[in-house]
Amino acid sequence: MIAEVVLNVSANDLNRVFDYGVPSNLDVVVGMRVLVPFGRRKQYEIGYVIGLKEKSEYACKDIVRIVEHVFDEEKLELAKWMSKKYFCNLSEIIKLLVPPGTSSNVDAVKEKKEKWVSLVEEANITLVKNDKQKRIIQFLLDNVEAPLSEICDFTDTTLSSLKTLEKNGLIAIKETKIYRNPFRSKQIESSFALPLTKEQQDVFDQIQYHQSKEYLLYGVTGSGKTEVYLQVIQKVLDEGKNAIVLVPEISLTPQITNRFLSRFGDVVAILHSRLSKGERYDEWQKIKNGQARIVIGARSAIFAPLQKIGIVIIDEEHDASYKSETTPKYDVRDVARKMSELGNFPLLLGSATPDMKTYYQALQGKIQLLKLTKRISTQGLPTVTLVDMREELKTGNKTPFSRLLYQKIVENMKNHEQTILFLNRRGYSTFIMCRDCGYTVKCDHCDVSMTYHLAENHLICHYCGKVLNPPTICPSCHSSKIRYFGTGTQRIEQELKKYIPNISILRMDVDTTRAKNAHELILKKFQEEKIDVLLGTQMIAKGHDFENVTLVGVLAADGLIHIGDYKANERAFDLLTQVCGRAGRGSKKGNAIIQTYSPEEFSIQAAKKQNYEEFYGKEIIMREKLNYPPFCDIISCIVSGVDEPVVTKAIKGLYDILSNSFTVYQPAPAPITKINNEYRWRVLIKEHLDDFKNEQLGNCLETFQASGYPVRLSVDINPNNML
Ligand code: ADP
Ligand code: ZN
Ligand code: ZN
Repeated sequence: MIAEVVLNVSANDLNRVFDYGVPSNLDVVVGMRVLVPFGRRKQYEIGYVIGLKEKSEYACKDIVRIVEHVFDEEKLELAKWMSKKYFCNLSEIIKLLVPPGTSSNVDAVKEKKEKWVSLVEEANITLVKNDKQKRIIQFLLDNVEAPLSEICDFTDTTLSSLKTLEKNGLIAIKETKIYRNPFRSKQIESSFALPLTKEQQDVFDQIQYHQSKEYLLYGVTGSGKTEVYLQVIQKVLDEGKNAIVLVPEISLTPQITNRFLSRFGDVVAILHSRLSKGERYDEWQKIKNGQARIVIGARSAIFAPLQKIGIVIIDEEHDASYKSETTPKYDVRDVARKMSELGNFPLLLGSATPDMKTYYQALQGKIQLLKLTKRISTQGLPTVTLVDMREELKTGNKTPFSRLLYQKIVENMKNHEQTILFLNRRGYSTFIMCRDCGYTVKCDHCDVSMTYHLAENHLICHYCGKVLNPPTICPSCHSSKIRYFGTGTQRIEQELKKYIPNISILRMDVDTTRAKNAHELILKKFQEEKIDVLLGTQMIAKGHDFENVTLVGVLAADGLIHIGDYKANERAFDLLTQVCGRAGRGSKKGNAIIQTYSPEEFSIQAAKKQNYEEFYGKEIIMREKLNYPPFCDIISCIVSGVDEPVVTKAIKGLYDILSNSFTVYQPAPAPITKINNEYRWRVLIKEHLDDFKNEQLGNCLETFQASGYPVRLSVDINPNNML
């Protein structure tokens, strides 16, 4: 028997299938990670078996060892499709199909054995008089069970207290093979299916199972989409099938996951980037061995080894995080669509502000449109007011808060209601500029503005990480009027405290959420301690459902629209609608205030009305006129290398190859002309990429690679950022 093996390397010249003999004592099947000898290297290489056959035309070496079985034949078919579609090596796709972070493991990740502590049933805990022991008992009453390694920390006790309790027969300490499920020790109240509203029932009834079909559930924020998902999943489970639910990474909060855990309990597996390697591996195993039947996770959870998939649900389907920005640069909606074809199950997309392309296809009838038009709560959508900041400035208000917003925040504090303030920035201020000559501090490696951070008082390049002290005198014209520009969350926090000294504020941005579980802790604190204001960036915009939040303020909407990217309007509208939708989700009416210097912009006007269809109607006309997606695809091909003349020669070569068959723009320096001392040039293709064109493009790229320029080529279909 001969195995066809792909090596776990991304080098192009090794992107081939190699034949290896299968020794009779090894039970090798497709999808296994194996060790093989390769070339003259001393160490064995990791490879994946992608096929088995009787004979090889080559004299081949033998597989040395099986590491573990990682994917099945259907996944392999998907991987092959992806490698064609996204122009990358099979090994790069396979990395997505194995438990995250384990693709280069020579050993399977070890199962973890750990000691766990629990209360003994019928233990007479009233006998415990010692304080330390009492704390342990109380802790176990709250948490049911806990790892030995953590319990002492939590209760500020020592092992000897535990031993005493064990000796007295009050607690049990057991060694178990455990799943490092971070949710296990939490007690979550069960919830039950709510009687659906008429609209929800209509939607529910239209979904057909056991066939490959795509649906868009378009429903305003709070219209009961999630409840529909829950009941659809129940139906799928009842029929013996399983479900995958994707949510944007940023909204993968306990609030969301708890709704699934409370309805379905133990059969839920949750995958997100904040899990440790071991935790992720365990969730993966739980899915693989059938213990978990519902997988909830961000983009890459689509590759979880779930068997018998009955539906894939993609919530907030317009979210940018569903498109990968690193190789393989896949769009998970395409991947899910392919899986639904291969596995004959429905794909359900949901959003209050669907992606332009998705909605366009729904109107064309390629996707079945399902609508929820009303909020469940009788309060309806929040009232949105626009404030023209130019007027504020004219009348002498130089603070970041309009009078109206300021007044509403104070009012809200008095009423013990809470406020969310949204700012589209991070850091203290974003860049440094000379007011006399316009000089800005840019990274000399990367050609992007360096970002100022107040806490460390330094400038940092977010591409290469270079750090600089901020200049006090302009290096270009020697003026001392060199200033910090832009407004960041830290400054807003300080200003707000200046005007309202007794206000309590929580800040949520990239800087305050670096630690594990920081998101959750901040949100929990906001909710439980009734903090007046939650101030934050993008990460507060989505998914949260706070009963007591009745006011949302958007401090500067302008940063969202004045970006030279064809998607800027769409993003601005989405985000503003989502943020405003955080207000008034409970029994009280919500208000939102959007501050802007350009209130006439139609994306802002449409956000004021919370009217997606109006926005869509105008935007789609512009897209068609300028031939932007969904009327074509934009494919960015970037060539990079250390030697600029070589790069420009190569890009010219690529352009010549492409221009025979495609609509291509002239080569130009990429928006970021240099990263880590590599020069970057780009050609953009505008073409509707159907299967035929896709293959043709693949051939062109191969021709280019074969011409042997010492450069790197990176191809991205409809990138999130054109800049
Ligand atoms: P969405 O996902 O569209 O934002 P949700 O499913 O979160 O909406 O629903 C909004 C609120 O309405 C939630 O608090 C939810 O529990 C409640 N809700 C949803 N469906 C029903 C229903 N059929 N009956 C009563 N309450 C419902
Ligand atoms: Zn200057
Ligand atoms: Zn840099």
